[in-house]
Amino acid sequence: MIQALSNHSGDTTQKFTSPGRLIVFTGPSGVGKGTLMRSLLQRHPELYYSVSATTRSPRPGEVDGKDYYFIDRHKFDQMVREGEFLEWAEFAGNCYGTPRASVINQINAGQLVVLEIEVEGARQIRATFPQMLSIFILPPSLDELENRLRSRGQDSEAAIARRLLRAETEIEASDEFDIQIVNDNLDSALNAIEAALF
Ligand code: ADP
Ligand code: 5GP
Repeated sequence: MIQALSNHSGDTTQKFTSPGRLIVFTGPSGVGKGTLMRSLLQRHPELYYSVSATTRSPRPGEVDGKDYYFIDRHKFDQMVREGEFLEWAEFAGNCYGTPRASVINQINAGQLVVLEIEVEGARQIRATFPQMLSIFILPPSLDELENRLRSRGQDSEAAIARRLLRAETEIEASDEFDIQIVNDNLDSALNAIEAALF
């Protein structure tokens, strides 16, 4: 079971006493986290992927409940107030959050749970779950990151600019996380992730 532990400074952390594990993938937008995650889940269907909630509008092809829970700002704020998120952050003009209950239930059931979230949220998770394994995905270069954001072809110029601006400070924080993997060749990056997990 996961238990909340309070220390004398008032911090609350969570301690695992079950075989479940929490794995957090983070890194700048456009680096290929989602692509890597989809391939990883195909290879390892036993992994539990936590579907996040967001106030962002769906991109073409995205499915509610599979890619995200698409909710409005009013509902998001209500979920924040009611403590329904394990972490949440504002990113490039929208809000994103990890639903708490399903993640805790799956870890307690012994599952390997994976989150794919931006850096601020990953920091919040680390503060709550010091035992998590965190993997930071790096681009081969900033130019390549920009190419990928553009070639994805799903964000406006303004959204791409906001993502690139944030990417530089995110990449500077990569050392805060347990493992850094450069997503240059997709298969090599996937193999490196598997080596870290299994
Ligand atoms: P993120 O989830 O980190 O925002 P995506 O998975 O959406 O990033 O990937 C952004 C774009 O980069 C997509 O068009 C994807 O196909 C492409 N991409 C991902 N990994 C690689 C790679 N190793 N080499 C070239 N292109 C990649
Ligand atoms: P996108 O809009 O490209 O799908 O996601 C933008 C950023 O938000 C990505 O870096 C993605 O990893 C991150 N993100 C997705 N879900 C969550 C979440 O639940 N919490 C946080 N903090 N970030 C998330």
